[in-house]
Amino acid sequence: MNPFEYAPALESTSIVTIADRYKLFINGKFVAPRSGKYFPTINPATGKKLSEIAEANSADVDLAVKAAREAYVKVWSKLSAAERGKYLFRIARILQERAREFAVLETLDNGKPIRESRDTDIPLVAAHFFYHAGWADKLKYAGLGDAPKPHGVVGQIIPWNFPMLMLAWKVAPALATGNTVVLKPAETTSLTALLFAEVCQQAGLPNGVVNIVTGAGATGAALVNHPGIDKIAFTGSTDVGKLIATSIAGTKKNATLELGGKAANIIYDDAAIDEAVEGIVNGIFFNQGHVCCAGSRLLVQENVQDEVLAKLKVRMSHIRLGNPLDKNTDIGAINSAAQLAKIKELSAAGEAEGAERWSPPCDLPPAGFWFAPTIFTGVSQTHRIAREEIFGPVLSVLTFRTPQEAIEKANNTPYGLSAGIWSEKGSKILWTASKLRAGVIWANTFNKFDPASPFGGYKESGWGREGGRYGLTAYLKVGK
Ligand code: NAP
Ligand code: MG
Repeated sequence: MNPFEYAPALESTSIVTIADRYKLFINGKFVAPRSGKYFPTINPATGKKLSEIAEANSADVDLAVKAAREAYVKVWSKLSAAERGKYLFRIARILQERAREFAVLETLDNGKPIRESRDTDIPLVAAHFFYHAGWADKLKYAGLGDAPKPHGVVGQIIPWNFPMLMLAWKVAPALATGNTVVLKPAETTSLTALLFAEVCQQAGLPNGVVNIVTGAGATGAALVNHPGIDKIAFTGSTDVGKLIATSIAGTKKNATLELGGKAANIIYDDAAIDEAVEGIVNGIFFNQGHVCCAGSRLLVQENVQDEVLAKLKVRMSHIRLGNPLDKNTDIGAINSAAQLAKIKELSAAGEAEGAERWSPPCDLPPAGFWFAPTIFTGVSQTHRIAREEIFGPVLSVLTFRTPQEAIEKANNTPYGLSAGIWSEKGSKILWTASKLRAGVIWANTFNKFDPASPFGGYKESGWGREGGRYGLTAYLKVGK
């Protein structure tokens, strides 16, 4: 990459005020943790500490669950649906007004490029609140019965890859359907959730309707195991999803689980190759590849492999990696040292198992966590890099000769979250889509999201759907 091609275009951070220390958000107030413990959150692009976050223990989680119960019984379940909707509209409007603040804070705490937090994450966050605000007083028309009832108190646990967006996917439908929530953000990316707590105060949301308990895995486990929780909504790894399913088995708790993926992005030989190359890049390098539905397995028809790979390498040579606050940056920082170690370990396994590794020339910044965009060719289905989720900017390339072979390879995975199909023939796209076992299938595009469109997986990619009319069912006692 030529460092003189672009002058820096840094987004100012002056719009954001980061406190030295953050408490828990329980019953509408920021309260010191009973645990007395705090842990640091860092900027992964520099390695520097941004602030300290409270670590909630089981006593703190208990207070939050009790606050959510009281708010549910005394206030939230008594409000008319239209009034509930007004709060959601208010939150959505405040999120739009404060969008730049949220985008900058997200980029600082997560490491994702400002271009993405500003143009994708935060606009979608507001869209999710607007969309669900509209549903609040129309639930009886959702085809889920005359007067579908909420579960009550929902425990929600989210990952670090889209911190605010995952919060919106969880909180907006839960509130619209009349539940109250206790949310645990990911340990490395809690700051925007805590700014959202301020938005709840600003919107005048009744105390206890939204509670935010920060902490690590143990805080999440305390939430899952609390007897006062009626439903768990979890997004994260398949391993933790399995743990949660085991620990709630035999209880009254409902659960939705949004887990991992290893999506196939299928390029047929009749595809518009230049567009497909853009789709491959968007599919695996968006958000540093920290995307559950990333197109991490490229399945390219053998007779166009050379052309696709040649064009992909040229395109990858123009990807800009660096300061996430620079508006020209395409690939930002890897979120944590642990995630970087996992990406390095799986990439080393790819080489050791015989796949060929390629990255464009790329200067990595000296501090923080970075990984150059990488492709592996000559990958076979048995390689770990073809089976395991890498969750980084690493693409495994496999080939196929016939459409049937493409389907078999695409479905040969324990996951089933998403897939992409590139072809100029509509009939071929429909035939392929009907045979793929994946919850979301994009045709001649990739990584497109909309609050009206349900999202979720088959097999080990999870239970249930989020978004759209179907996503409402997760938060209502449908048929009970
Ligand atoms: P993770 O380790 O499963 O963590 C997810 C959340 O669960 C975090 O808040 C985590 O806390 C918490 N947690 C950890 N151990 C727990 C336990 N025993 N009980 C309850 N909660 C616990 O996943 P991750 O590595 O952060 O996130 C990446 C994964 O999420 C990938 O596999 C990705 O595919 C998946 N993902 C799926 C979707 C989807 O919609 N399907 C969307 C985004 C991401 P800490 O952060 O403190 O560890
Ligand atoms: Mg951080």
